[in-house]
Amino acid sequence: PSRVLSGVQPSGALHLGNYLGALVKFARLQHEIDTFIFVADMHAITVWQDPAALAQQTREIAAAYIASGLDPDKATIFPQSAVREHAELAWIFNCVARLGWLDRMTQFKEKSGKHKERSSVGLYTYPVLQAADILIYKATHVPVGEDQKQHLELTRDIAAKFNHDFGAPGGASAFFPQPEPLIQGPGARVMSLRDGSAKMSKSDPSDYSRINLTDDADAIAQKIKKARTDPEPLPETLDELSARAEADNLVGIFAALSGQTKAEVLAEYAGKGFGTFKPALAELAVEKLAPVGEKMRGLLGDPAVLDAILAKGAEKAREAAAPTLSEVKKLVGFWGA
Ligand code: ATP
Ligand code: MG
Repeated sequence: PSRVLSGVQPSGALHLGNYLGALVKFARLQHEIDTFIFVADMHAITVWQDPAALAQQTREIAAAYIASGLDPDKATIFPQSAVREHAELAWIFNCVARLGWLDRMTQFKEKSGKHKERSSVGLYTYPVLQAADILIYKATHVPVGEDQKQHLELTRDIAAKFNHDFGAPGGASAFFPQPEPLIQGPGARVMSLRDGSAKMSKSDPSDYSRINLTDDADAIAQKIKKARTDPEPLPETLDELSARAEADNLVGIFAALSGQTKAEVLAEYAGKGFGTFKPALAELAVEKLAPVGEKMRGLLGDPAVLDAILAKGAEKAREAAAPTLSEVKKLVGFWGA
């Protein structure tokens, strides 16, 4: 039996990277596999979130899921904090994971920057909670962007060590599965429009670094027009393209949005300058994103409907999570388990 799990943090405006790297994959997978998609509000508070805005941000992520094709009758959509089993399993995993493993996580280094001592402890153990998110449902597949690859490897290490340390007698040594990341296509790593060496992020202070799902046609065109590039026309080959980070990124975005490969995009635009390519990209982005933004706004106009979807999803998720947690408590040897 296979099961998919993934999530997005309600930590700001959703962008093209989230859409191409994660959201569109969720919608595709729900038809093939049992799919659990959550709003990662417990992850979001690893950095400061305004308490007065967090619940609404959570609804916005849920709206974006549905607007990009996720069907609440097919997939289980829920807020992470509404299923307490995630936090309980995360504590146990905190005692399974080793400090040395977490010390290697590059996301913590990037997000804490020069202020490591002032970062929350939660930001440091974030990948442990992520392992719990996945393994509490014994998920086998995790559709994510390229930036989450290292965290997925940690999840696999935690699963293996738990199985080794607590594997029940009688062949339960594979209590937890080894979840596989699903990271494919030119949309798996969308870079910032201002800096070809940094990924597009919700938490980037510059709004010009990203295209938000709710941006209107003018904003999308402006941001693509201002996107950093070099002055050369687009090259003939992927090799030449890969040496030009910003150009590579824009071609990758075009490919992901149009469902082509980067080679196919180059076949059409090689020799043409950004004066031609950028307007074509803007037009394509507007064509693909405008309906998503519109649908999101419609859904957000009726919060009661979204809240009902989240409440029902949380109930379904708890039903799936509770048996795993009671088995884990037994394996660990807790009283009464
Ligand atoms: P934050 O800056 O707050 O971490 P984020 O933009 O990284 O926000 P997350 O909520 O951390 O977004 O990630 C949600 C999903 O989107 C994950 O699967 C992640 O891998 C994917 N993702 C995030 N950024 C990109 C990107 N630039 N390209 C492709 N996928 C991405
Ligand atoms: Mg992130």
